[in-house]
Formats: sequence, C-alpha cells, structure tokens
Amino acid sequence: MMRHDLLSMDFEELSAFIAALELPKYRAAQMFEWFHRHTASFDANFFKQMNNLPKSLIRTLEETCITSYCTTTEIKSSASSETKKYLFALSDGVLIESVQMNYSFGDSVCISTQAGCKMGCSFCASGAGGFIRNLTAGEMLAQVHTVRKNILGKLSGIVLMGCGEPLDNFEQTIKFLKIIADPKSLGISMRSITLSTCGLVPEIRKLADMCLKINLAISLHAPNDRLRKAIMPIANVYSIRELMDVCRYYTERTARRITFEYALIAGTNDQPSHAHELIKLLSGMLCHVNLIPINSIAEEDTIKRSDLQHFAKILNKNHIPTTIRRTIGADINAACGQLRARPWGSGATRNA
Ligand code: SAH
Repeated sequence: MMRHDLLSMDFEELSAFIAALELPKYRAAQMFEWFHRHTASFDANFFKQMNNLPKSLIRTLEETCITSYCTTTEIKSSASSETKKYLFALSDGVLIESVQMNYSFGDSVCISTQAGCKMGCSFCASGAGGFIRNLTAGEMLAQVHTVRKNILGKLSGIVLMGCGEPLDNFEQTIKFLKIIADPKSLGISMRSITLSTCGLVPEIRKLADMCLKINLAISLHAPNDRLRKAIMPIANVYSIRELMDVCRYYTERTARRITFEYALIAGTNDQPSHAHELIKLLSGMLCHVNLIPINSIAEEDTIKRSDLQHFAKILNKNHIPTTIRRTIGADINAACGQLRARPWGSGATRNA
C-alpha cells in the first residue's frame, strides 16, 4: 500500500484529504498548523503528538499515512559554533544532511533536495556516491522545521544548496516553496530563499515564467565552455551562451539580481585571464559574483585554494560587484560541496 504523504500536501490538498474522510474542515487547519507552525517533531511521534486530534483519527492516520519524515541521527557543531550539521534518516532509512548557519542577522538553514546527485561536478562530494533518490517536498519541509526548532532567534533565510540539484527535482522543489510561503504555514518571503543550480536551462526558464521572487544562484565556476566542461559535466548539455541567455530572461521576468557562484580552484580557473573572460561574459547583466574558497573533498586531493582577494579585486575594478563567501563549517565537513548521503564516521571527507 502506498501511504499518503500528508506533509507534501499544500493546504488545498490536505483539505480535500480531510473531506474524503468525511471529517470537519477545521481538522485540516489543525493538522496543517501541526505540520508547519508548531514545533512538532518529524520522527515516529509525528501523529502521536497532535493532542487536539481525536485518537481514532490519529489511528487512521498512522495506518494509512507516512508516519516519520526525518529522524535526527546526529548533530555536530563546528568549533566556532557558528555552524551545526544534522544527519537525518528519512522514512526509508536513506540518510541526508542539512546545515544550520549562524549569522549576525539571524540563522539560515541549508537543506538538501536530493539524496546524492546526478550532476557529477568534479570538485563536489554530493555526487561522489552517485544518485540515490529525489526528496519529497515534505522531506524538505521536515529539514527546515527540525532545524528551526533549534534556532533561538529568527529564521532569516533558507538556502537550497545542500546535497542535490534542486532543478533536477523541479516539481517537489516548487511544491516546497509554495507550502513554505503559505501564510498558514511559515509564510516565508520568497526573497529570503536562495536556490542554487548548476544551470539546467529549461528549468530556469520555467522558474522565470513562474515569476517567483526567489534569489537564483548559478554555479558557474568557469568563464568558458572548454574549462567548464572539464569540471562540470552539465556544460556538455548546455553552453554558457545558452545559460547566460536564460539568466537574462530570468532577470527580465523577475527583476531579481542573479548571483554567479565561482569556486576558485588553484591552477584551473583562477588566472587573471579567467577574471577578464568573466568580466566580458557578465558585463551589463543584473548580477553579482560570489567567489567561493574551494573546500577539499576526499575524492579529489588535487584541488587547492587560490587567492580570492586578487581575483575579486580585478572583477570589482571592472564593475562586476563581487563578494567572497565566508566559509563556515569546514571543520565538520558542513561547508559547500562537502555534504553527502552516508553515515558519519566512515571517513567521509578530509577537513579543509
Ligand atoms: N546543485 C546545486 C546546489 C548544491 S551545491 C548547484 O550546483 O548549485 C552548492 C554550491 O557549492 C554550488 O555553488 C557548488 O558548486 C558549490 N560547491 C560544490 N563543491 C564545492 C567545493 N568543494 N568547494 C566549494 N564549493 C563547492
């Protein structure tokens, strides 16, 4: 029997589910509140804790619906305590990671959208163990809510930058955005959500047409096709030209500034000539560049960090607004490109 996935339902779908059980409408509102407003847990206690629902309904739900979304297996804090990494077990035992990042203006949570990844970027650990499966919207929501419970102050942002390629799991990712933005749920503003993609052109176009006001971040990492193909297999499918065209379309439709992520890898994409190629590529676009210090992963011990300040200076001088991403959490392998889907303590990653 396929169990119903209530956490992945938007309010209308949940209402229809409740109507089909011939229950009063307000049960849908109560349940939606438990799912998305309370500090409920998303483990085996999921339905049991809902103490304003009748016992008989809880029994029915436990018999017919998914009863556990993410069970916290382990939590690690970075030495500076500005980052916490969570290892979650999903209902089928698949493991995923999420990260809580502490900034002066509030906490952000970085969630995974897939277990494993198909994209195969040479410098990233997320795809090193292959692709396991897509996450459901409910599993993305459960990550946000579980981390949110541990945040003392305000949840100031959500980044879809954990394991996986969000646009390769398009429908569930959009569903997640829709539910989390619902005022009956957390009512999070789309402007505080950032989606990072390696550049799936048709999906970026679809996203643009939906006119969601999310921040779009593009993992560019190279200023020309030859170099990009060498480190990112997706560059064999879509050229940089096609990618730039769709990015311009995105800014036209949404009036949002695009972020281009560029991880500097010593001896690969870090030469002044690369900076100048990048300037040519991005001139005139509503965008900014976020330079990322490359983080080490166990599978690739040849990648080394480069001089970010120097590269940033060239771009800034040429009117491409550029910032350098602060790396946090590398001591617990919670930094960019270090997330994966396997048990801890298995020699997952060398520290940066
Ligand atoms: N699949 C999406 C989102 C996940 S990765 C994407 O490609 O954007 C989040 C960011 O971390 C991306 O910009 C990715 O390119 C970057 N990243 C991957 N491996 C990295 C590493 N070893 N060091 C630093 N950044 C890395």
